[in-house]
Amino acid sequence: MVKKVAVLTSGGDAPGMNACVRAVVRSGLKNGLDMFVVYEGYRGLVEDNIVQVDRNFVSDTINRGGTILHSARLPEFKEESVRKIAVENLKKRGIDGLVVIGGDGTYLGAKKLTEMGVKTVGLPGTIDNDIASTDETIGFDTCLNTICECVDKIRDTTTSHQRCTFIEVMGNRCGDLALYSGIAEGVEMILTPDHPLPFEEITSTLKRLRNGKKKHSLVVVSEKLYPNIHDFAKEVSKATGIECRAEVLGHLQRGGSPSARDRILATQYGVHAIEALLDGESGICIGLVNNRFVRYDIYEALNLPRDKHIELLKIISLVNR
Ligand code: ATP
Repeated sequence: MVKKVAVLTSGGDAPGMNACVRAVVRSGLKNGLDMFVVYEGYRGLVEDNIVQVDRNFVSDTINRGGTILHSARLPEFKEESVRKIAVENLKKRGIDGLVVIGGDGTYLGAKKLTEMGVKTVGLPGTIDNDIASTDETIGFDTCLNTICECVDKIRDTTTSHQRCTFIEVMGNRCGDLALYSGIAEGVEMILTPDHPLPFEEITSTLKRLRNGKKKHSLVVVSEKLYPNIHDFAKEVSKATGIECRAEVLGHLQRGGSPSARDRILATQYGVHAIEALLDGESGICIGLVNNRFVRYDIYEALNLPRDKHIELLKIISLVNR
C-alpha cells in the first residue's frame, strides 16, 4: 500500500490541470497519505524539485489556468540512466506512488518508472483530446469554448467583408478540436486528419456557396494538416477568385480559467487516481468511457484505436455546407 504520493504535470499545459492537482493532493491527504508535488514535470523529478505539501498549498487554484507546478518536456527521460536519478530522488523521500497528468508521452514515462519500481497512475491532461483511452481529456472543454468564442468574433469580420476565413486550431494530429468547434459553430467546412477534403472539392464548395445567398464562409482546419495555412488560403483564393484569409489561433487556445466541466472532470480524475493507488494499481491510466471512469494498463491504452467520433463525422455532411 502506498504511503507517500507525488503529483506532477507534464507535456503541454491544459486548463484544469490545477483542479486535478488539487483533487489529488486533497484526496490523498484525506486518505492519510503524505502528499508531494514535483515542479516542471519529469525534469523536476530528475533535478529533485520535489516539495511536501499540505491542503492549503492548493487553495484557490481550482479556477486557475495553466499549471502552478509548471510543465516541461525532457526528451532525456527516455534514457534509463536519467530515469534512475528520478527514482533515487523519490526513494530517498520514501515516495512510493506518483500521479502524472499529461499526454501519451507522459504516460510512457510513467510506465517506464513503474518498471523501475515506482507505482504510477496517469491522468489525461491535454487540450487536444488525443488520448484514445478516454472520451474526454482535462482541458478539452475549456479549449473548445475558447475556440468558439474566437470563431464568433472572426465570423463578424468575415461576414462584413464577405470573405472566406480558414481558422487553424490545435489538436496535434487529432481532429477533435476542429470537429467539435466546427459543429458548434456551424461552419461551412471542417478539415481534419480523419476528414480531409480534396483541393477541388474545397474550391468547388466555396464557389457553389458564393453563388448562393450566403457570400461568406468559415472553415475550421486542424493544425499540421497543411504545411502553411496562409499559403493554402492564397492558393484557394487564386483557384476560386474569392478573397480568402487564414487565422491561426495559436497558444491562446491553451489559456484561461477552466470551464466548470473541466474543473469537475479534473476533480473526478484526481480522486480516481488516489483510489487506484490505494487499490494497489500501478502502470495504469484512468479514462472516462461512456460516462464511467475506467482503468487501463498504459501500454494497452496507447495501442487503442482512435475511432471515438465516427458518429460526429457522419453528421458533418448533413448539417455543415
Ligand atoms: P502533449 O499531448 O500535451 O504533447 P505529452 O505528455 O504527450 O503531452 P510529450 O512531450 O510527448 O508530451 O511527453 C512529455 C514528457 O514525457 C517528455 O518530455 C519526456 O520527458 C517524457 N516521455 C515521453 N516519451 C517518453 C518515453 N518513451 N520514455 C520515457 N519518457 C518519455
